[in-house]
Amino acid sequence: MVSSLEEINRRVISCRKCPRLVKYRESVKPRASFKDEIYWRKPVPGFGDPRAWLMVVGLAPAAHGGNRTGRVFTGDESGRFLVEGLHAVGLANQPISRSKDDGLVLTGCYLTAAVKCVPPENKPTTTEYSNCRGYLREELDVLTGIHAILALGGEAFKQCLKLASLKGSNTQKISFAHGGRYKLENFPVLYASYHPSPHNTYTGRLTKSMFVELLNRIIMENSNR
Ligand code: SF4
Repeated sequence: MVSSLEEINRRVISCRKCPRLVKYRESVKPRASFKDEIYWRKPVPGFGDPRAWLMVVGLAPAAHGGNRTGRVFTGDESGRFLVEGLHAVGLANQPISRSKDDGLVLTGCYLTAAVKCVPPENKPTTTEYSNCRGYLREELDVLTGIHAILALGGEAFKQCLKLASLKGSNTQKISFAHGGRYKLENFPVLYASYHPSPHNTYTGRLTKSMFVELLNRIIMENSNR
């Protein structure tokens, strides 16, 4: 039986499969700048257009981003950079991703993460990746219009390859490269980008123009989908 996106997200939000991540997400101390806010502290489901053709896959929610706001890529610097880029190419109605009620609407695009709970030091364990992979797989199965996947960063890229491998693709000898395009069997066209974290964007490793150029290329290369 194929689940609906709503039903998958309901199960994600109540998931407690990974004891270490449950403990961590529920114990994150608010930053001084958010001290009056009530943190979400639950798994963070995907967000976007149910008719999306492009799925953007990050690693996991950020402690003071998705784990605070309850929406993936929302309320942190990575989300700001990402959504500004999506807006620049027409996949988002606004360049702002601040809170669940900020009015952000994505068209043709769906955002999610390989792991739905914030991990300590941004490092899920192999078991935690494996525990959460089923949700990513279900999202991909239910979003039947997905034609392309953009993996943000090397870890998200590896998780996409694992999923592709489970679906029967040969993923041997494939390595991450920013701007890479990977045509795999039984899987949407996979693209790779450096992760839009401050570590990359503040150092100029990933600039706004690089990111927008890649998004425009993905749009162009998938225009005949
Ligand atoms: S990381 Fe995924 S599998 Fe683990 S508790 Fe969170 S939602 Fe559940």
